[in-house]
Amino acid sequence: LRKPKVVVLGAGYGGLITTTRLQKLVSLDEAEITLVNKNDYHYETTWLHEASAGTLHHDRARYLIKDVINTNRVNFVQDTVVAINKEEKKVQLENGELEYDYLVISLGSNPETFGIQGLKEYAFGITNINSARLLREHIESEFAMYNNEEEKRDERLTIVVGGAGFTGIEFLGELGNRVPELCKEYDVDFKKVRIICVEAAPTALPGFDPALVEYAVNHLQAKGVEFMIGTAIKECTKTGIIVAKGEETEEIKANTVVWAAGVRGNSIVEEAGFENMRGRVKVDEFLRAPGHDDVFIIGDCSLVINPEIDRPYPPTAQIAMQQGETCAKNVAVAIRKQGQQAPFTADIKGSVASLGEDNAVGVVFGKKVVGKQASFMKKMIDNRALFMVGGPSLVMKKGKFKLI
Ligand code: FAD
Ligand code: NAD
Repeated sequence: LRKPKVVVLGAGYGGLITTTRLQKLVSLDEAEITLVNKNDYHYETTWLHEASAGTLHHDRARYLIKDVINTNRVNFVQDTVVAINKEEKKVQLENGELEYDYLVISLGSNPETFGIQGLKEYAFGITNINSARLLREHIESEFAMYNNEEEKRDERLTIVVGGAGFTGIEFLGELGNRVPELCKEYDVDFKKVRIICVEAAPTALPGFDPALVEYAVNHLQAKGVEFMIGTAIKECTKTGIIVAKGEETEEIKANTVVWAAGVRGNSIVEEAGFENMRGRVKVDEFLRAPGHDDVFIIGDCSLVINPEIDRPYPPTAQIAMQQGETCAKNVAVAIRKQGQQAPFTADIKGSVASLGEDNAVGVVFGKKVVGKQASFMKKMIDNRALFMVGGPSLVMKKGKFKLI
C-alpha cells in the first residue's frame, strides 16, 4: 500500500513545531514526512534585531535542523521552494520536485514595502541570518570608514529606522546599546551619530498600551534616538530618504536605512493562486486553505481572525507555534481518515518588546511589565520557544541566561 506523503515547507517556528509533533504522532508505516528548508539551520526570527545590530552573534540565533528532528522519521531536504502547484499536488524546488498528499505551508513572511520607491534597492531589512549579518557589517564599516576620509561625511553615522512597530522598536533598543560601543571602538564622537526613527502613525507602537509606549520612547530617547512621529517614508534613495509630514516633505541624508515597517505573507503563497490578503491566506478553523482540504497554512502565511475584535491576529511566533501543534494533530487525522479535525484557537499570553538586553516593556497575562522584570520575562519567552522545539538540551545550548 502506498504511504501518504506529507510535505512541510519551511523550518521556522510553525514548520518545526508541526514536524517535531508529527514525527511522534504518526508512525513510520502511516506516512512519509518530508521537511523542506532553504538552509540546513533554523534561525530565531525573533532574535534577528540583535544579530542585525551586532549585540548578539548570528550563530547564537541559529541551530541545525537535524539536531531537533528525528532523521529516521523525517526526510530533510535542504532546498529552496520555487513554486507550489496545488492542482497537480507538486512542489517545485530549485533542485527538484516533490509530490504531496498533504502539504503544510509555513514559509514565513516577506517585507512589505507598499510599493515605496527605492526601498528594495537601498534599504536594509531584518529578515533572515543573511540580512542581519549584512546590516551589522554595513553599520560597522560605516563607523570604520568615518575617520579614514579627509572630508568627514556625517551621513555615514546616520541610521534611519522606518517603522516604530515591535521590530523597529526592538532594533532601536539594540542600537541604543551598540552605538556607544561602536563610537568607542572607532574613535567616533557620539554627538556626531544620529539614530532617527520615522513612524507614519500618530504614535510609536500603534495599538499598544499608551503608558508602555511612553516608557519605551523615553528610554530610547535617553539613548539618543530621535523620533519623527506622524511622518511617513515616501522614498528611499542612494543617499537617504524622503519623508512627508502632512504637506511638507524633507530629505534626510543617511547611509543606513532600515525598513522595519511591516511584513506580508511569503510571495510563493500568492503566486500559487490561493486567495489571499497581502500574501496571507484566511484559513478555515482547521488551518486549511479554503477549497483545499489537503493544504494547511500556518504562521505568517496564514490569517486567523481574532473573534474578540473581528480583526486578524498580528503575525507572531507565538501564534505560529500554537498553530503548529493543531496542524500536526489535523494532519494526523487527515492521514488516518478517521477522527475529527481540531479547531484552532489562539491563546495569546501577551507580548513583550525588548529595549536592549537590559530593558523591555510588555503585557503578560493582562499585567503591564517594564524594566528588568520585563527583560527577564522576554528572555524566558525566548527560552520557552527553544524548549518547545528542542527540549531542555536546546535551551542549555542556545538559551539566554544572562540575568541582569
Ligand atoms: P519563520 O519562523 O520566519 O520561518 C520561515 C522559514 O521558512 C525559515 O526557516 C526560512 O528560511 C524558510 N523559507 C522561507 N522561504 C523559503 C523558500 N522559498 N524555500 C525554503 N525555505 C524557505 N513574534 C513573537 O511572537 N514574539 C516576538 O518576540 C517576536 N519578535 C520578533 C522580532 C523580530 C526582529 C521579527 C522580525 C519578528 C518577530 N516576531 C515575534 C514575529 C515572528 O518572528 C514571526 O511571526 C514568526 O517567525 C513566524 O513564524 P513562521 O513559522 O511563519 O516563519
Ligand atoms: P508592524 O506592521 O507591526 O509595524 C510597522 C510599523 O511601520 C507601523 O507602526 C506602521 O505605522 C509603520 N509604517 C508603515 N509604513 C510606513 C512608512 N511609509 N513610513 C513610516 N512608518 C511606516 O510590523 P513589525 O514591527 O515588523 O512587526 C511584524 C509582526 O511581528 C507583528 O505582528 C509584530 O507583533 C511581530 N513582532 C513581535 C515582536 C514581539 O512580540 N516582541 C517583535 C517584533 C515583531
